[in-house]
Amino acid sequence: MQQWFNASLQRKISGLLVVLLSFMFVVILYSIYKLKLIDAEMHEVAEIDVPLTEMVSELEIMQLKQHLLIEQFRLKGTEDKVVLAPEQAFAEQRDGLKLILTKAERILTKSLQQHQIRFAPAEHQQILVSMKAFHQQSDSFEHQLQLALQEGHTTDQQWQRFEDEAARLDQNIVAILRHMEKLTLEASRYTDKHENEFMLVNTGLGVCAFVIGLYLTFYILQIFRQRIGRIQTEIKNVHHSIEQGLPIASPVFPQLQHQDELTELEQDLKMMVQRLSQEISNRQEIEQQLLVLATRDKLTGAFNRHKWEEQLRMEISLAERGSAFSIALLDVDFFKKVNDQFGHQTGDKVLQTLTEHLGRRLRKTDTLFRLGGEEFAILLPQQKVEAACQLAEVLRQHIASLEETDLPAFTISFGVTEYCQQDDAASILNRADQALYQAKAMGRNRVQQG
Ligand code: GH3
Ligand code: MG
Ligand code: MG
Repeated sequence: MQQWFNASLQRKISGLLVVLLSFMFVVILYSIYKLKLIDAEMHEVAEIDVPLTEMVSELEIMQLKQHLLIEQFRLKGTEDKVVLAPEQAFAEQRDGLKLILTKAERILTKSLQQHQIRFAPAEHQQILVSMKAFHQQSDSFEHQLQLALQEGHTTDQQWQRFEDEAARLDQNIVAILRHMEKLTLEASRYTDKHENEFMLVNTGLGVCAFVIGLYLTFYILQIFRQRIGRIQTEIKNVHHSIEQGLPIASPVFPQLQHQDELTELEQDLKMMVQRLSQEISNRQEIEQQLLVLATRDKLTGAFNRHKWEEQLRMEISLAERGSAFSIALLDVDFFKKVNDQFGHQTGDKVLQTLTEHLGRRLRKTDTLFRLGGEEFAILLPQQKVEAACQLAEVLRQHIASLEETDLPAFTISFGVTEYCQQDDAASILNRADQALYQAKAMGRNRVQQG
């Protein structure tokens, strides 16, 4: 049984079918056996008991007739007027009686010899003995009667003896008849009992097969409901995690000792989820890298011009609803000279160092963009131009006072402006650009408000 629980579903279902088919096979075998038995018993009753009973009742009637004839013999002997000839009728009756008795004895003897009598053979044997005894009694009675008739004279005493003997024969045949009736009745009861047993056992086996089938079917359905339900829940969790962008947890299925199709499915699902999770995290990493590539400048790590345009548009749309913001354009002074004197690589380092220092000094809400070359922009949300100029001044001074060992000193100039009504990206940028141009024109290393 333990093996059955540990087996695969296919084996479980096959096992279930084998059990049910075995039950059906047992029911069929039992039915065949019982039906044969019942058939034999009914056959026995029909072929032996019923004909014997009929014969014995015929015997009884004949016996009565004989009794009547004896009475006629007696009358013939005493009254001359009686013109009856009972001898002949008596002889006929006697032959008939003998014939029936012989027939009945033959049926019984044959049935007993061939073991056709299943029910109470000893009692049937006894009936046969009683019949033979009756046969002999009857023969001897007739013989005495014949002798008496041949003598021509019979006393009343003799007649009385004959009548007593005839009465005893009557009693005997009635006893045999009753015995036969009793046996026939009991045989039919016996057959009824077998029929009832047959019905009861078949119903019992049928109910057992049904209960076992039902139990096993429900067990398998329960397993399906539980384990497929668990798999469905895990799939829903995966869907939910994907929709919400959450990390996908690997499904945890209870460790089973046996391996079946559902365990394989659970393992496949587990592997698939792990693979999916890996793929998603790879994709997220790639997306992150793409995002960096799309929005950041490769050399300095500051946001690029594309991001600047996007953020500026967004800030303008917020400002149109009442929120202030400023922008500060900055440019490295005489950068060409740095390149020319110290080389392009040093020029690159200057740009990286500048980005690093500016980034450190900006508020979290302010953002630095590299617009191209050595030109940068700072977006200052919710800042009026004065505050923006102050910040630009702090930054300018900081850069001017930098003392980097491996870099030449350099300065930056600012053109700062704030959002004005009706401004668009081009107009505000143009104003800042003009201010920067002025700062350059006025000698560089300056902050100019536009
Ligand atoms: P000004 O004070 O008027 O701004 O003078 P400037 O020399 O900085 O102005 P200009 O625009 O003439 O020179 C900018 C130089 O910056 C020209 C170009 O070779 C250099 N440059 C642009 N992009 C890079 C870069 O990514 N790396 C380096 N090393 N140099 C760059
Ligand atoms: Mg410059
Ligand atoms: Mg420039």
